[in-house]
Amino acid sequence: MTRKFDQELEDRLMRYAAIDSQSDETSPSTPSTPIQFDMLNLLQQELTEIGAQDVEITGDSVVVATIPGTAEGPTVGFLAHVDTAPQFNATGVKPRVIKGYNGGEITFPDDPDLVLSPEEHPYLAEKIGHDLITASGTTLLGADDKAGVSILMTMARHLIENPDIPHGPIRIAFTPDEEIGRGVTEQLPKDLKADFAYTLDGQEVGEIEYESFSADRAVIKITGVSIHPGLAKEKMVNATHLAAKIVQTLPQATLTPEVTDGREGFIHVTDMNGGSSEMEIKLILRDFEMEGLEAQRDLVRKVCDAVQASEPRATITCDISHQYRNMRYWLEKDMTPVDLARAACRELGIEPLSVPIRGGTDGSRLTEFGTPCPNLFTGMQCIHGPLEWISVQDMALATELCLSVVTKAAQTSGNMRS
Ligand SMILES: [Zn+2]
Repeated sequence: MTRKFDQELEDRLMRYAAIDSQSDETSPSTPSTPIQFDMLNLLQQELTEIGAQDVEITGDSVVVATIPGTAEGPTVGFLAHVDTAPQFNATGVKPRVIKGYNGGEITFPDDPDLVLSPEEHPYLAEKIGHDLITASGTTLLGADDKAGVSILMTMARHLIENPDIPHGPIRIAFTPDEEIGRGVTEQLPKDLKADFAYTLDGQEVGEIEYESFSADRAVIKITGVSIHPGLAKEKMVNATHLAAKIVQTLPQATLTPEVTDGREGFIHVTDMNGGSSEMEIKLILRDFEMEGLEAQRDLVRKVCDAVQASEPRATITCDISHQYRNMRYWLEKDMTPVDLARAACRELGIEPLSVPIRGGTDGSRLTEFGTPCPNLFTGMQCIHGPLEWISVQDMALATELCLSVVTKAAQTSGNMRS
């Protein structure tokens, strides 16, 4: 079942996955980790070598490049992110290929206890005969999103070598820091200069996503009254107790990630730090609808106010800030990019799946900032952990999908240039 892009995709992912480019939420710099330049610089060089034009690294550390059009058509952008998730070890990734998967359990050379089983992962059971790539057991793989990078590099190389394929101008962008939500700035639509775009950051074959969460973050700071515990009677106000009270008062049985799915939103306490004199609680607020998000903001503020009222000697502040918004709000006004991708997908014999993403993508922010940007599948599975795996043949389908999208985009606008 070897397709023409299989070997190139395999080689690229093996090479890119071995490069450590993990991002770091605690770092204030851009990119958050200097090691991301190992990927950014390499991609800048490789894009130049395959003959892409206008290749540069922008002020926001995004690699951008042009594949000039061979026909009239809208400018279509494609994005993938170079960073890997901070949630799991990403140093010393040793990718390996399992050729012609036999349908059995997959074990890992560096962790004998780790098993990837088709019973627990039904999607894996569908991949008999495929070439699979995994890590070695002690790290994630980083197919999220080096699969996206590999697919876009393969598409770019193929289009540049085959100028007879009709397509409009294409812009490629490789972003840093997607995993920490800082990959897309308001400047990116201006640097990308695309009429619409796609992120290659989805999972199973057929996924064409145009709905994400709307997201805010909240930081609650509690300042108690600090005094030597031996002299504390009727004087000390312990910030840890107030922090516990706030967390305990928030709804746990109805509104946390562990009890919600589908279209339900949640409030998630991500961090709680500090001591008796000062505490900080970090939360993320998620809902598919703005009214739901507004209700969550009200709830968090009310809980803070109630705990504050119970202890006037403490100071409790609650700072809520905007993260990203459901891209559907913009895309539903003009479904052209979604419709194009769906038509291209059906042409490959695959029924498109559009499930709302219980998270955000670079496309959520890019859409909000003015460039409509749905998310396309890459094949990546079990991301952000040691079981992460991907089928090379799924990546090849994603590559075919992108090629079909750019051809269709040019057809819709008609008028061959030559
Ligand atoms: Zn990703």
